[in-house]
Amino acid sequence: MVSVLSNRNEPGCEFDPSSDSINVELKPEVDWKKLIHTAIQSSTHGLCVFDRHERLVIANEQHRAMYALTPAQNVPGLSVRSILENRYARAGSASIGAQQVEYLAAISRREEFQATWELRDGSFIEIDMRPMSDGGFVERHRDITELRLAEISAQAATQELIEKQYALDQAVIVAITDVSGRIIYANDKFCQISGYSREELLGNNHRILKSGVHAREVFRQMYRCLASGEVWRGELCNKAKSGELYWVDTVITPQLGPEGKPVAYMAIRIDITARKKAEAQVYHAARHDALTGLPNRAALLDNLSEWLDRVPARQNLVVYLLDLDGFKCVNDTLGHAAGDSLLQQLSVRLRSTVGDDDLVARLGGDEFAIVQVGSQEEREQAIRLSVALLEVVARPFMVESQEVSVGVSIGISLSPAHGLTASELLYKADLALYRVKSEGRNGFRFFEDEMHRRAQSRNQLVNELRASLVRGEFELHYQPIFEAATLRPRGVEALVRWRHPTHGLLYPDRFIGVAEEAGLMEALGQWILQKACADAASWPEEIKVAVNLSPAQFRGATLFDVVLCVLVETGLSPQRLELEVTESMLLQDIEENLLLFRQLKNIGISIALDDFGVGYASLGSVVSFPFDKLKIDRSFTRELLSRPANKAVVASIMTLARGLNVQVTAEGVEQKEQLEYLRDQGVDLIQGYLLGRPAPWAELKLVSGWPDQLRATCA
Ligand code: C2E
Ligand code: CA
Ligand code: CA
Repeated sequence: MVSVLSNRNEPGCEFDPSSDSINVELKPEVDWKKLIHTAIQSSTHGLCVFDRHERLVIANEQHRAMYALTPAQNVPGLSVRSILENRYARAGSASIGAQQVEYLAAISRREEFQATWELRDGSFIEIDMRPMSDGGFVERHRDITELRLAEISAQAATQELIEKQYALDQAVIVAITDVSGRIIYANDKFCQISGYSREELLGNNHRILKSGVHAREVFRQMYRCLASGEVWRGELCNKAKSGELYWVDTVITPQLGPEGKPVAYMAIRIDITARKKAEAQVYHAARHDALTGLPNRAALLDNLSEWLDRVPARQNLVVYLLDLDGFKCVNDTLGHAAGDSLLQQLSVRLRSTVGDDDLVARLGGDEFAIVQVGSQEEREQAIRLSVALLEVVARPFMVESQEVSVGVSIGISLSPAHGLTASELLYKADLALYRVKSEGRNGFRFFEDEMHRRAQSRNQLVNELRASLVRGEFELHYQPIFEAATLRPRGVEALVRWRHPTHGLLYPDRFIGVAEEAGLMEALGQWILQKACADAASWPEEIKVAVNLSPAQFRGATLFDVVLCVLVETGLSPQRLELEVTESMLLQDIEENLLLFRQLKNIGISIALDDFGVGYASLGSVVSFPFDKLKIDRSFTRELLSRPANKAVVASIMTLARGLNVQVTAEGVEQKEQLEYLRDQGVDLIQGYLLGRPAPWAELKLVSGWPDQLRATCA
């Protein structure tokens, strides 16, 4: 059946062409075997394998039969040229001859080649040549005659469709009117779609079909065009007798009289109502929020602009921007399905709180906007609605059979007082919203000019920060931290300063918050870490460096990598690096943070809980996170001696710390009495102006001998 050079039938090596005179250097690779195998088993494919000298290695019987070759014309060793000649001579039609040159060129370049050859007997062979990695190539011949025939009949079917379409076209709506618009001819389709009888249409003005959808300008323009003898084309909405609207793609051709002036108009229309409906659905989807069904940001902008154009100057508009407080927590703790459900319920509540003419839109996430047509007392009106909104949002929501509560912050701008364009009003409402949020949320504020000025100076600050980052205008000061018992320096805390080109030295409270908001804190934080570690690498071994992390750094998933890189680059031993974090950073994504903690601690870095004792009920995270140190906040130290409660708290912190085997640092120690009290309580480390203010490293005298001096002062 198959002619091969050598067929030893070894298992896994049915085909070893390398063993004969024509010196084919093919290795029995998996691909080859598979290919040949498939081809041999296939009853319809012809297969030829050529070696890199373009000589036949193997060809199957199907190949021979396809081209009506004699057995001698299908044997190994023949050159591809002679095989091509034989194919052409025995079975080929002109199409093989024509492609021969192209095919031979492809072979010599070893490029893939595909063609369909028509044979003399009317059959079609699809040839597919692929070069092989060893320099040879494979030809696959597929008889596609039947496929071809099917294709041809499919073409015939298409023709039939076109004819049907043509028949449809016969059903276009045709109307002829005189120059005044009086209908003088109406075809059946026109009667059918409009619902009017021919008697009703004829003699009537075409105006009876007016839908009111189009602006008058559309018809004016149409008339100008037609009157000048030109063809008008456009999509129009018409009204049927039943009142139903239908859309038609319309071409109106003026029929010119002997003087070259229109004497009649012929309108040819096609019903496009279905398409228009589909388009309207797409349009609706593009302009509405899928979750709540409310208009989205794009729709809000359009609507607001439209209102501002339309509403007479005397009329007022009120724009409210709403941002939920505590929504992220619902999402994080109860899952996104719960969050979605809350947003849906909320949007219903918002809709039912505002008037029918007011617009409620969802801008994304937990942000909503309301546009209200204002009365003369728009401020009072806005206050009333805001109070109502605060109330409806505050009512608990039922999600997944749990009661959850959220709050809302509302920023308000008024038109015309605050602006006449959509973007201006939204910007100003946003500034007011920003103020509400920075003032502790859950409330409302009107825009005030001062907000704009502040935003501008804040923007300027952000730009300056960005430039300073590039120019390297930040510095680190270091504040020493001492062992309470011996007053030996144990480490320093790195505190960032901004050497501002015009304002001089700025302290972190002036810029950290802004850098955080503007997304610059990750870069700045990285610089701080790098600089602190590089500095510390040159200090005495016993001095550790503590670096404050910002929430932005903690949120980035790359913190561990960054820290690791910095340590490797600076050569600082991880045991000498301490990271200070605050509790609020840890509360989100607890699992991930725990993992990060373990990674950092595994390489020897220690972690301190900063600002301990303020704000949150800290005990939870102290127990769940493996801290090395607690830092009692300076505000707490300040009132240590004056408030008995603070003393009690220090005592219990110490008990807790001993139980957890965690060190305690007291910061903000300014008085000798505070130092003594804390030392008596067993606080391990002391930091504060009493013992040392933050200063550039060069100004710190953490050298031997100095502690003795210090001890003398504090004794
Ligand atoms: P913090 O981490 O609690 O830093 C201690 C702050 O207390 C420092 O203020 C320090 O100068 C001040 N301080 C130290 N001893 C005393 C004292 O005896 N009395 C009083 N009244 N204050 C004392 P600073 O440098 O203005 O830093 C303020 C805050 O800015 C820091 O609070 C920290 O939260 C943040 N911060 C400072 N540097 C960095 C930094 O490099 N990265 C990050 N992410 N935050 C930083
Ligand atoms: Ca700190
Ligand atoms: Ca602190």
